[in-house]
Amino acid sequence: MTARTSDIDIDKAVGVLCAGGLVALPTETVYGLGANAEDPAALARVFQVKGRPPSHPLIVHIGGAEHLDNWAEDVPAAARLLAEHFWPGPLTLVLRRGRRVPLEATGGLQTVAVRVPDHPVALAVLAAFGGGIAAPSANRFGSLSPTTADHVRTELGDGVDFVLDGGPCQVGVESTIVDVTGDVPSILRPGGVTREDLEAVLGRPLAIPSTSRVRVPGQHPSHYAPRARVVLVEPEKVVAEAELAQDLGHQVGVFLPTSFADAPVRAHAVVPVPASMDAYARGLYGFLRELDQRGCDLIVASLPVEEGLGLALANRLRRAAGPRPSETRSR
Ligand code: AMP
Ligand code: MG
Repeated sequence: MTARTSDIDIDKAVGVLCAGGLVALPTETVYGLGANAEDPAALARVFQVKGRPPSHPLIVHIGGAEHLDNWAEDVPAAARLLAEHFWPGPLTLVLRRGRRVPLEATGGLQTVAVRVPDHPVALAVLAAFGGGIAAPSANRFGSLSPTTADHVRTELGDGVDFVLDGGPCQVGVESTIVDVTGDVPSILRPGGVTREDLEAVLGRPLAIPSTSRVRVPGQHPSHYAPRARVVLVEPEKVVAEAELAQDLGHQVGVFLPTSFADAPVRAHAVVPVPASMDAYARGLYGFLRELDQRGCDLIVASLPVEEGLGLALANRLRRAAGPRPSETRSR
């Protein structure tokens, strides 16, 4: 367990899940809003608390790869290979739905998304609970994913029955989602396991379908978005763009590329981008939250090189910068 949780907390979390309640739980990616995956009423509350359309499927978290066949049917060899290499870890597999998975968990689809999280608290809850826990990120639909227990409390308040504090998330971006139901596995969402690592294990290239054509939640133009508008420019233009906007009266937050590390910038708030992609991923949502909290109305950033974790980071930044459905929508 971690310093912040005890066996008593685990018991309480299991009690809440068994009673149809919602538990926020730490994983290595982001905090999840967990419900008993086999309880349609509890699942309905997840959608309601998040403000998420019920057609958007949830990820079912399980305690180990040995339980996979309880939740999915016709599990292909490629899925077993990936599970063996990357579980517990930030990899979600989309498989044919097992009969015990209610359609409420899959958004009506005949496929189910399954993963084993790599966090001692999540694994302890799963072991004690025994069943599957459906858990989307513990934030309002479309906004930033929480990477600390405080983020969850601030964002969901009384909407969640119990918050387990497992400290800050170590990966910081969501899982990589791989669809293994077709002839060729394909990446539906880049995330904490890199494309390169997946391809090395599978021994062949992975398809990455154009995200705009795949109907997958988390793939909306605007998602993972702070309140401030996000503008993406070339790294060498970040400083000039930020200063221009600041001079025009914006409260500008800057993601300062490493090549400008010590440059003074005329802006409201500056976040130096970490040199390591691991640290950048771990910090991304916290940085965006911080710039919101500091009152920025515009964030100027650039995209990292899209390899390794950079692929997931660029995906999240693009979505944070995506067109907003409306200026007045609830967050
Ligand atoms: P979130 O819970 O917000 O991190 O998002 C969960 C993600 O799981 C969504 O972005 C979906 O893309 C994905 N997902 C869950 N179930 C399925 C499924 N059956 N097919 C494809 N993607 C899925
Ligand atoms: Mg989410």
